[in-house]
Amino acid sequence: MITAKPEFANLSPYGVENRVVAPGKTPIPLDVNESLRPPSPAVGEAITAALGQTHRYPDAGWAELRAKIALVHELHADKILCGPGSLELIGLLIRAFAGAGDEVLSTQYAYAYFRTATHIAGATYVAAPEAGMSVSVDALLAAVTPRTRIVCLANPGNPTGTVIPAAEIRRLRDGLPATVLLIIDQAYGEFVDALAERVFDLVDRGDTVIFRTLSKAYGLAGIRVGWGLFPPEAATAIRKLQPPGSISGVSQAAAIAAVSDQAYMHETVAQTVHQREAFATRLAEIGIETVPSRTNFILLRFSDRQAAKKAEQALRDEGVMPRAMGFYGLPDCLRITIGQQAEMDLTAGTLARLMEVKK
Ligand SMILES: *Cc1c(COP(=O)(O)O)cnc(C)c1O
Repeated sequence: MITAKPEFANLSPYGVENRVVAPGKTPIPLDVNESLRPPSPAVGEAITAALGQTHRYPDAGWAELRAKIALVHELHADKILCGPGSLELIGLLIRAFAGAGDEVLSTQYAYAYFRTATHIAGATYVAAPEAGMSVSVDALLAAVTPRTRIVCLANPGNPTGTVIPAAEIRRLRDGLPATVLLIIDQAYGEFVDALAERVFDLVDRGDTVIFRTLSKAYGLAGIRVGWGLFPPEAATAIRKLQPPGSISGVSQAAAIAAVSDQAYMHETVAQTVHQREAFATRLAEIGIETVPSRTNFILLRFSDRQAAKKAEQALRDEGVMPRAMGFYGLPDCLRITIGQQAEMDLTAGTLARLMEVKK
C-alpha cells in the first residue's frame, strides 16, 4: 500500500464550491470575481498567433512578459517573477519561508488561500482581528511572536473589498522585525492604482514581496498568469521550487497582449466601478447593507445567517451564483462579483422582491 507523507493526513483537497443554479436557468457566475467582460481583442489575436508555436517549450524566463510588466509599472524586470496564477507563487513562497513550528500571520477575514498554503507548508496559521471589515495594523503588530516568519496581507482585501492606505502598510512593515517576510497580495491592485499610492518600493528593503495577477482586471482568469516583485533572497527561493515552463507559450502571449492594452484594462475597471456603485446604491435603497468596496466584488450583509441563506437560494433560483461566506466566518454575508448591467439588475431585482416579502 502507498501512503502520502504523514504531515499530509490533516490537509483537505481544495473544495469545489456550490456552483449549482436552478435547472433550465442560464448560470450567471458571480462567485469567483472574474472580470465582467472578456479580455482585450488583442488577446485573441495573440493566442491565434501563438498556436503555431505549440511544439516549442515556452520561455522559462518570461522575458517579454516581464519586460512589458516592468514598463507599465516602472519597475526593474529582473525583480519580477511570473507563475501560473499568483496563488501558486504565494503558495511556493510560504513553503520556502515557513515550516513546522513557524507561524504565518494574517487577518480575521483574510484570503482563504493564505491559510491553505500555511497548512501545506506545515506551519501554524494565526489570524489577527480586523477593525470592522478593515485590516488593523495595530492588531497585526500585537499578534507578532518570536515564531512569526511571514505576515500575509491582501490589499484590497478579499472578501471584504476594503483597502488600507499606503502609510498604514509602511507602518506595518516598519513595525515588523526585519526577519519577518511581508507578503502583500494586490490581486485587485488595478482597481485602486488610480487612487492609492504605490508601495512597490518596499520590495527594495529586501523583506517584502508584492503579488499581482492577470486574473481580475485583465480578464485572464482562464489563462493562469500572475506575477510578483521580489527581493533577491525570495526570488532565489522561488526559482528553486518552480518547475520550468509552467506558463504555456499561449498563456504568455495572451498575457503580453493583455498588459500591452492598458486602455482596455482601464475601461474594464471604469465599467466595473460604475456597475459596482450603481449596485451598491440600489442595495442601500432596498435595505441591504454592503461593505464599501474598492474591487470587482461586494460583500452583502444580511440580518442573520438564515436571511443570507434565503437570499442565496432566491438568487440561485434565478441562475445567479453568489459566494456563501460561512467558510470566512461571515455566515450572514454573501459576496457578489460585479457583472454586466443586466446581471446586476437581475441580482438586485431578485433581492428587492425578497426584501419586499419580508416587510
Ligand atoms: C483572485 C485572487 C488571487 C489571484 O489568483 P490567481 O491564482 O492569480 O488567479 C490572489 N489573491 C486574491 C486575494 C484573489 O482574490
